[in-house]
Amino acid sequence: MEGRNWFHAAGILWPLLVEAASRRETPTYGQLSPSVQTNPLSMRWALDPIQRYCIESDLPPLSSIVVGAKSGLPGTGFIGWGLDDIDTAHQLVFDYDWSQVPNPYEAFGVSDTPDSLAQSLIEQPEKREEIYAKVKVRGIAQTIFKRALVLAYGQQCAMCRLSFYQALDAAHIIPWSLATPSQRLDPQNGMLLCTSHHRLFDCGFITVTHDGLIRYCDPDMTDGHYSTADKNMTASRHGKKAHLPSDPTLRPSREALEHHYQRHGW
Ligand SMILES: [Zn+2]
Repeated sequence: MEGRNWFHAAGILWPLLVEAASRRETPTYGQLSPSVQTNPLSMRWALDPIQRYCIESDLPPLSSIVVGAKSGLPGTGFIGWGLDDIDTAHQLVFDYDWSQVPNPYEAFGVSDTPDSLAQSLIEQPEKREEIYAKVKVRGIAQTIFKRALVLAYGQQCAMCRLSFYQALDAAHIIPWSLATPSQRLDPQNGMLLCTSHHRLFDCGFITVTHDGLIRYCDPDMTDGHYSTADKNMTASRHGKKAHLPSDPTLRPSREALEHHYQRHGW
């Protein structure tokens, strides 16, 4: 659907769904659609960000309580639960304490999408704290951070250039739990890595130097048997140039890398 910012609509719907859940009600698409100025058939687009957030965050399927007026069931686009057992989903949603979950889309203005915010992270570093203040919810911040790094790294792993979107992670160099608010969304505190290199990086087996070269902890492969794949992913990469953004203001910062070296005793 073009021309509509459904993230903004999702931010309006979230508290309405939470309220309905607390009253153990199942509003219809038609009852909720006026609140986001759309028609019942397009409600699926406004509910989709909520559905995805619940799936990614392991929450009960909040959007399942919105149903068709005739069927009493969630309609096309709902994938959060089996329709043959929707009562169980509703019970889970009704019984859940939603007051402890902040509205993930609350601060999305009429023109804010994860992509527009990712673009701002890349182009307007001074706006990072402002953007973080908008999207404090970790799942949403992580989505925006990944999209920003995908742009900065041309959708390729910094270590091996793998480019499958689903197999790429936005790795934090200074971990999320230790990072300041502005570091949490700072591309200079991140690296786009495939899931394997992300794990190896987080364990401190592999890193990059200040000059942008890949460093592996056992380049001579003395520590046990290496399969061909092991070697290709690690020792063979040692000393090679990492695939980093051409813009130096988007590359890992000296401060963040020092933090990584110290944590892992490099
Ligand atoms: Zn990789």
